[in-house]
Amino acid sequence: MNSIIDRLKKCHISLTPQRLAILKVILAHHDHPSAEVLYEEVRQTLPTISFNTVYKTLETFCQKGLIFKINPLHEVARYDGNLHPHSHFICTRCFRVEDVDYQWPEDLPLPESLNSSFKVDRISIQFLGLCSACQQELDSIKPGKRWRVTKTS
Ligand SMILES: [Zn+2]
Ligand SMILES: [Zn+2]
Repeated sequence: MNSIIDRLKKCHISLTPQRLAILKVILAHHDHPSAEVLYEEVRQTLPTISFNTVYKTLETFCQKGLIFKINPLHEVARYDGNLHPHSHFICTRCFRVEDVDYQWPEDLPLPESLNSSFKVDRISIQFLGLCSACQQELDSIKPGKRWRVTKTS
């Protein structure tokens, strides 16, 4: 709990009950929740809070570098309280976002074209594909299995 307060202070964000409640909820999540999901949970402790307040607070947190925002494949934005450098796996079917403990190797140079014209602040790597649940689901509805023709003679 104290670490949350430290985190707010470090980012020069003044402490309000709303902000504390929102941050507590996001830090308890490891599945990169959307603003809607966070709102539903914050409402359980602060029933009068509006969606707009939750959304604006999340945006402030992002601007101050307190949390990260991920926009998976043009889906709704998802928020990430894990500030440890990491990459993401995004399922292209169900939009599940999972942390991957991998980052751009420090000794690997950036592409020449980037270095000459841009200043890179942060590298975010996304691995795209199918999560295990989606793979299983797709396997179980393979046409060959489902529509097996039984011979009647
Ligand atoms: Zn999936
Ligand atoms: Zn993450």
